[in-house]
Amino acid sequence: DVDGGLDVAVKDDEEDDEPPAPVPSARQIVSIGNSENEYAFTFHEDELNGILSKVPAGWKVCVVSVVGAFRTGKSFLLSWFLRYLEANCTMRAKDDTAGSDGSDGKPWHQRVQTLNQHEGSFDWRGGKERNTTGIWMWSDPYYLKRDGGEDVAVLLVDTQGMFDHETTVGLTAAIFGLSTLLSSYQIYNVDKRIQEDNLQQLALFTEYGRMAFENEEKAAATKDAPGERDEGETGGAAVPQQPFQKIEFLVRDWQNFETEDEQDLDSMEREMAEYLEHVTAERSATDLKETREQINLCFEEISCFMMTHPGFAVIKNKYEGDVSKIESLFMGLLDRYCQRVFSTETSAGGAPPRLQPKTVRGRELSAVELGTYIKSYALMFEE
Ligand code: GDP
Ligand code: MG
Repeated sequence: DVDGGLDVAVKDDEEDDEPPAPVPSARQIVSIGNSENEYAFTFHEDELNGILSKVPAGWKVCVVSVVGAFRTGKSFLLSWFLRYLEANCTMRAKDDTAGSDGSDGKPWHQRVQTLNQHEGSFDWRGGKERNTTGIWMWSDPYYLKRDGGEDVAVLLVDTQGMFDHETTVGLTAAIFGLSTLLSSYQIYNVDKRIQEDNLQQLALFTEYGRMAFENEEKAAATKDAPGERDEGETGGAAVPQQPFQKIEFLVRDWQNFETEDEQDLDSMEREMAEYLEHVTAERSATDLKETREQINLCFEEISCFMMTHPGFAVIKNKYEGDVSKIESLFMGLLDRYCQRVFSTETSAGGAPPRLQPKTVRGRELSAVELGTYIKSYALMFEE
């Protein structure tokens, strides 16, 4: 839609004494280690505020985050998310070409020829050394329409350095905990299958996040007059018992699809749901049972998606992002996955939107509220 684009261009002109906008990039909102202490957890409030202040006042914010072991393709996936959002968002902050993108009718992912490793991407690969540990947020929000025509902002969050044999368990828990607290859609990237280990770590780290959440809630409740908080703002919906919204296991390099037809993604999605059912089914052994109960106590929704191997060209050291080298089934699943993660409207088939704004106790947050919320937890983890 050309009109929306013109509006944005006019706004830019009015602010002509501002310096040119910096190139979009991942901004570090949490870093680990400083000159005095290699394990220090540092929150960069200015970086976070710089991003959140771009969201128009009062608009709700959805936050998609990816956690999981190092070198499992998290940043690679997030870079694809950026391409998807660039092609499908309803409005862009700096660019007036949304809607007139010269797509020639090709699907979004077939228009990408090279996935850059650094510029315009979350740094993926970046040599043999691990990337700087911490939490990163994309500098620019994207906007999508939800049911009823309201625009919502979408922010992307990358995490780096978990389970890399150098980051302590405490810091891994802090990164996992904070990214879970700040996201409305947390993706837990796992290699090849969901192992009991993955479930245990999730249970442990989210318990840490849950305790932080409950302490903070208690502190806030004593500050506010009783009954004043959040009343009537959830639109009459029941306030969920769980502190966190959505966790999705994203299995990478899955090798066990029974569906043979590469086009039959519906059948594959059914297999994914069955697999999750099987993994999370009730157990009688106490430890297995407690792990599952713990996860259910923390999240409103648990789901699963699977991607196959992207092909051997992609894992070669000299791979530089040539999209034509990526396996077609991987691309098909990637397309399906992006549509699924960024669904903010009820589908034609009646499926409810999967991506929701960040809520706390059922109430949707604006960007300013999200900033205050993230800051209070980040400072807690800094101590
Ligand atoms: P991160 O550390 O989890 O952020 O991993 P990166 O996104 O930096 O990717 C690490 C390496 O894995 C790169 O060489 C990617 O090309 C490769 N890669 C990306 N996606 C996948 C995948 O689905 N499976 C495999 N086996 N490798 C992948
Ligand atoms: Mg990474």
